[in-house]
Amino acid sequence: MSGAGMAGNLGMTRAAVHKRIKKLRDQGYRISGTTRQGYRLEAMPDRLEAPVLSAGAVLGRPFMNFPTAGSTQDEAKQRALQGAPEGLLVAAERQTAGRGRLGRVWISSSGGLWCSLVLRPALRPDQVPALGLVAALDWARAIRDRTGLAARVKWPNDVWVQGRKVAGLLIEMSSETDRVHWIVLGMGVNVNNAPPRDLPVPAASLAGITGAPVSRGALLSRWLRLFSRSYRLYQRRGFASFRQAYLRFSLLEGRTVAVDGPEGIARGRVAGVDPQGRLMVVGSKGTSVFAVGEVSLRLGRNDA
Ligand code: ADP
Repeated sequence: MSGAGMAGNLGMTRAAVHKRIKKLRDQGYRISGTTRQGYRLEAMPDRLEAPVLSAGAVLGRPFMNFPTAGSTQDEAKQRALQGAPEGLLVAAERQTAGRGRLGRVWISSSGGLWCSLVLRPALRPDQVPALGLVAALDWARAIRDRTGLAARVKWPNDVWVQGRKVAGLLIEMSSETDRVHWIVLGMGVNVNNAPPRDLPVPAASLAGITGAPVSRGALLSRWLRLFSRSYRLYQRRGFASFRQAYLRFSLLEGRTVAVDGPEGIARGRVAGVDPQGRLMVVGSKGTSVFAVGEVSLRLGRNDA
């Protein structure tokens, strides 16, 4: 971009642009510049910064980033209770008490992306779980777009790459019977961190898979753009408009799984998700449908 062009767009002098370019360079942005051709952004530091994140996205502001937090989920929930606006995004460089579903531990060392988003959707509580499927789908898309990796969603809302778990989501909410007050959507993505070992499922980080550092800012901002759009569409049309895309990204489609549900363990072959986002499994006694939150799930022995 030419310095004169930026000065014009921003309504400031070229000298003022130059000063700000210098400031960005001091912060680790690599910007080359020649008098004739203008400035060129060569590389960005792997910092999470509000203007970078929220470019082109409705969600993701206000934005706060803690060096350390117990859990971004707790930080965001506390603020939601105090009336924080929709779109608030709370991140932490590391969490000391990260949580997964059902009180499980989420290991969050530095280099990963750990954050929680406050939403105030016009939805009934029963419409919330499938929104998590949509959020996971957008993570698979964002990872594909930023790394080229074929990311897959593992129902309901984990993201896997090359047979390993790279991301997980957690939804917590406050609601009445027919109205949601707020949702806090928690997200953990192994990006440049050393992935945890000795888990029941194999985990990996994106940098570990690609062999090079991955920009957390670029990844998160991609997700925010995708999900800002999906979130609006979901409130108008529901999961039905995401179902085909979810199936295309589905890790489990056609595979044999063991589903640990309210009526014991059921085995069968995954045959899609229904328009509400419930998992459909074909077993010896016909097709069963499982709602999010009702089950935990294992891949069949020959299918892992
Ligand atoms: P599930 O994968 O069964 O849906 P959660 O999404 O709630 O479970 O995640 C919690 C589980 O994820 C933990 O019990 C642990 O096995 C695993 N886990 C914890 N930290 C990480 C991490 N950084 N990356 C991948 N998996 C993790």
